[in-house]
Amino acid sequence: MPTVTEALLAMDYGPAPESPAIALDWLKRGPFGHFINGKFTRPGAVFDTVNPATGAALAQVTQGTGADIAAAVKAARKAQPGWAKLPGHERARYLYALARLLQKRERLFAVLEVLDNGKPIREARDIDVPLAVRHFYHHAGWAELVADEFPGMAPHGVCGQIIPWNFPLLMLAWKLAPALAAGNTVVLKPAEYTPLTALLFAELCIEAGLPRGVVNIVTGDGETGAALVAAEVDKIAFTGSTEVGRMIRQVTAGTGKALTLELGGKSPFIVLAGADLDAAVEGVVDAIWFNQGEVCCAGSRILVQESVASVFTDRLKARMARLRLGDPLDKSTDIGAVVHPVQLERIQSIVAQAVEQGAELHQPGSFDGCFCPPALLTGLGAANVAMQEEIFGPVAALMTFRTPAEAVELANNTRYGLAASIWSENITVALDIAAQVKAGVVWINGTNLFDANAPFGGMRESGFGREGAREGMLAYLRDPAPGGKARATLPAPVALPGEGGGAGIDRTHKLYIGGAQKRPDGGYSYSAQGSQIPLGGRKDIRNAVEAAHKAAGWGKATGHNRAQVLYFLAENMAARQADLAALSSKAEAEGAVARAFYWAAWADKYDGKVHATQSAHLTLALKEPFGVMGLICPEEAPLLGFISTLLPAIAMGNRVVAVPSQGAPRAALEMVQVLDTSDIPGGVVNIVTGPRHDLARTMAQHDDVAALWVFADAETCAMTGRESAGNLKPVWAENSARNWAGTEGQARDFLRRAVQVKTVWVPYGA
Ligand code: NDP
Repeated sequence: MPTVTEALLAMDYGPAPESPAIALDWLKRGPFGHFINGKFTRPGAVFDTVNPATGAALAQVTQGTGADIAAAVKAARKAQPGWAKLPGHERARYLYALARLLQKRERLFAVLEVLDNGKPIREARDIDVPLAVRHFYHHAGWAELVADEFPGMAPHGVCGQIIPWNFPLLMLAWKLAPALAAGNTVVLKPAEYTPLTALLFAELCIEAGLPRGVVNIVTGDGETGAALVAAEVDKIAFTGSTEVGRMIRQVTAGTGKALTLELGGKSPFIVLAGADLDAAVEGVVDAIWFNQGEVCCAGSRILVQESVASVFTDRLKARMARLRLGDPLDKSTDIGAVVHPVQLERIQSIVAQAVEQGAELHQPGSFDGCFCPPALLTGLGAANVAMQEEIFGPVAALMTFRTPAEAVELANNTRYGLAASIWSENITVALDIAAQVKAGVVWINGTNLFDANAPFGGMRESGFGREGAREGMLAYLRDPAPGGKARATLPAPVALPGEGGGAGIDRTHKLYIGGAQKRPDGGYSYSAQGSQIPLGGRKDIRNAVEAAHKAAGWGKATGHNRAQVLYFLAENMAARQADLAALSSKAEAEGAVARAFYWAAWADKYDGKVHATQSAHLTLALKEPFGVMGLICPEEAPLLGFISTLLPAIAMGNRVVAVPSQGAPRAALEMVQVLDTSDIPGGVVNIVTGPRHDLARTMAQHDDVAALWVFADAETCAMTGRESAGNLKPVWAENSARNWAGTEGQARDFLRRAVQVKTVWVPYGA
């Protein structure tokens, strides 16, 4: 007879299947049309949506055409004014009703999600659906409060929303709830592989009595998505691959459509020597083996401190071997099916490349159907494909580091910047690393934590914009458009034959780079305001960006220090007000001095928030400077416009490369004298004069310019959007003139757009 210990060791899991009966019954309502203007359309040309765990067809859904998209946008457009005009309380009641209805059907939604996507029922039931419910409740609250909390702001209008297949219902909730709360109407396209929970949700919209046209759902593939991007919508919100995000950025440039992109990631999972290693091993399970690794913020790059690497790796392999792969409807399954055979092939192909490039593969279990056993890659270098490319499968790559500084360097050695996870019992070290990693979300001693009141979104090529919380609401609201005329396109300045001046030319100016006056690299000038103005070019922008990079200390200075420096600058401007007025106008110079004091006042006040989330965390929404920003300052109001854009950017800790007015640059160049006598460190402000359109292009293309503001003509605005699709920097492009002397010249948008939010989850409790 076996002993109790032997019996315990030999014990296996009994089957614990969830019944799919009710979901399968619901599916009999198919084939499905779209949900447009409050009702389901008749099915058109249909395609199968398949259960990846079994390969069985679940239902037929309609391939959305351009005409379907047009009909949905028309319905949304018609419904929008009425929806926006409803008192916030009324909109709140609808969102609340949707939350309640979703909560009542939790199990059906969870099972349907499992059938369509292949994820384990435990995750759909305990994570996806409750979080979706939470999102609607939370945003019912924002609908109620939006007028009070965002005074003067308005909804965009009609939003086109495109979502991926990894969290179909949750992504729908993340997109719909804030859009509706803010007063927008929506056309949503679910992913081709996973449209079913969106169609079930459409039934809730009918049941909740949502006004017709407020929510429209059009199913289909990438072509349907492309048609939505091209349609007459006011905003596009996209979650998906960086590649498609780039394309969307390119085609929306210059159209006036607002855009938020939540793209891929290659997030670091940093384990320091002092970490609770067992907790960190469990962390890896949640980081990369959760949802089959099909998670944009998956901790796919494990970085372990060398001294604990061997013990950590052994424990990790042992834990990995015990993960249960199998029937997603079984409640004891850890890893379900990959969404589609195409995705499985992609995972296998990247893993094969990683091995070819020298990685060692640990992958217990075997491939069967659309299932991929969890895997760990070790012995790889930072350049290995598995360290650089998003695999979107249950595959972790592990590297070691020696010091925290090296960990930061490795963590940031990626084009992405979505999330990071830091494991250490030393909170001082963990927070220090959190401040240095380039990621929109940082979890300390945790991973993949989400909440409707915690902003989520990326930096760098992981996209821009936040979802969730107050910060996410801002993505669905806009400030009133500036009232001025459309800006005219300027002819490029003509190079003068040489220095020395001609008739009426009294002075030769220089560029201002790294705190010193520099001749332009090309050696040419152009004539403006009776002076020779340096004709800056691509090389000068590069030098200026390099100088700005070296002035990184400015971003680390305290708000108080920056305020003091800016007040001193404002005082110096006041002392030279007459000179500045001579080169602009009395009113402009007076306004510029006042504006300098205004932005100095903000330097230590535009700070972050602590958000109330559901778990025991201090969830901090920190406002971080971008780093190096490019400014194409307005042509109008050459001094006041220059000061009004430059100072909020540096007040928030950015270093700036500014291109002032082309036709009247002298007041901005005169500011060099003022900057030189202030305490602003060299490299924080760099001024390059010359052909604005070309200089703007160089800044848009430059990978080390993290954000760009463009106050210029329509063509320059559109061009900068297109040209920055490669590096996906946020571009604020505005082609109608502002009244810089009024409140438009010191709008809150200048602060909002000078920072990016980093959400840091700090745990508390023993
Ligand atoms: P996509 O970016 O192609 O899909 C996301 C959504 O965009 C889907 O609804 C898709 O439709 C739609 N879409 C596709 N092409 C266009 C287009 N030209 N214009 C507008 N919308 C479009 O991701 P995939 O599903 O193809 O996955 C490929 C890879 O992307 C994955 O392996 C993974 O690495 C990454 N990915 C990242 C996600 C994230 O959250 N960061 C989510 C999903 C994927 P359709 O479903 O028909 O393709």
